[in-house]
Amino acid sequence: MDHKELVELDHQYVMQTYGRFDVDIDHGQGATLYDLAGKEYIDFSSGIGVNSIGYANPKWVQAITDQAGKLGHISNLFYSQPYAKLAQQLCRRSGMAAAFFGNSGAEANEGMIKLARKYSFDKYGKGRGTVITLRNSFHGRTITTLTATGQDVFHNYFFPFADGFRYAVAGDMDSLQEVAGHDVCAVMLELVQGEGGVLPMDPAYVHDLAVLCAERDWLLLVDEVQTGVGRTGTLFAFQQYGIIPDAVSFAKGIAGGLPMGGFLANERCREVLGPGTHAATFGGNPICAAAAQVVLDTLDEDTLAQVTEKGKYIRARIEHMGLSSLGATRGLGMMIGVEVTGEESNKAMAARLIRNGLLVLTAGSALRLLPPLTITMAEIDKGLAIMKDTLL
Ligand SMILES: *Cc1c(COP(=O)(O)O)cnc(C)c1O
Repeated sequence: MDHKELVELDHQYVMQTYGRFDVDIDHGQGATLYDLAGKEYIDFSSGIGVNSIGYANPKWVQAITDQAGKLGHISNLFYSQPYAKLAQQLCRRSGMAAAFFGNSGAEANEGMIKLARKYSFDKYGKGRGTVITLRNSFHGRTITTLTATGQDVFHNYFFPFADGFRYAVAGDMDSLQEVAGHDVCAVMLELVQGEGGVLPMDPAYVHDLAVLCAERDWLLLVDEVQTGVGRTGTLFAFQQYGIIPDAVSFAKGIAGGLPMGGFLANERCREVLGPGTHAATFGGNPICAAAAQVVLDTLDEDTLAQVTEKGKYIRARIEHMGLSSLGATRGLGMMIGVEVTGEESNKAMAARLIRNGLLVLTAGSALRLLPPLTITMAEIDKGLAIMKDTLL
């Protein structure tokens, strides 16, 4: 099959919900990808933050293969080792107390919202189910997480949306106080807003917000679907912000390319969701859990330190290219936003970069870079050279 035939097949049989780039991808190795015609691409996108340890990592392939040959799935009615060991690792390395496993980011955030509402219901009864989220946030595509998402463009078509969400301006404690009320049970936020444009939260604001949550007995829910699993240079971004969330969600990078999501709860929230209150058929799937174990093992202290270093390197190199079309960079670790300053839109720029062999993402009005966390310096330099040649 060639590119044209594949595109025809897609257009005939697949719902056209994505605006795809006119590129197909067939296989990859490390942070390098190849299309059906054999053309090479350097990956600064990780399949939107998913391929945390690159493509075809031998340990990852082996772990998946071994687990598939042993036990591909068993319901959560039975004990099995992979999810239990993974939960232990995640808790030990985050300081959290217990894990719940699902399949995606939106599902993970829905679970956190359920946890917060039940915590509040158990303690205070009905009427305290409102969750405050931030303007410009992104929390997922289900009806509830779309409602949680603080961007009006997402609140369209699919009426009626869920009740129980109010929005505060990010970084503004007065705005948070304005939407506060006796019906609130939680605040949910991303520490670096991803889809919204790679916008890191001010640490002082996050600190004040955590204090207010503690005072009001609101749960502090951190959506680390994009920032988690080493993306920002620590296993979770909250570990750099000096806060302890009541619950933290993860997904994207956790299993290095297999579908997995979930959330961790701290000690006081570990028992909120008791038997029969929450479930996911595929949650904690043994193959995904085995893959995630390899991801966590790979992201040791040394590799995480390199995420910080490589992120700094990429940002410094881009800022020193002196390209008139690019402005300042921002972000944390290898979650990088680059301001677009010229006439050309970020989307048009991304399309040209991709055509020239560098996969990048956009977010808000910026270019967004999420390279695999294990990308080599040689691959980084190759990617940056393509950027320089393309954007001039
Ligand atoms: C991607 C993302 C989600 C949604 O994850 P899905 O797996 O697509 O459901 C939620 N929150 C944040 C911060 C994300 O980046």
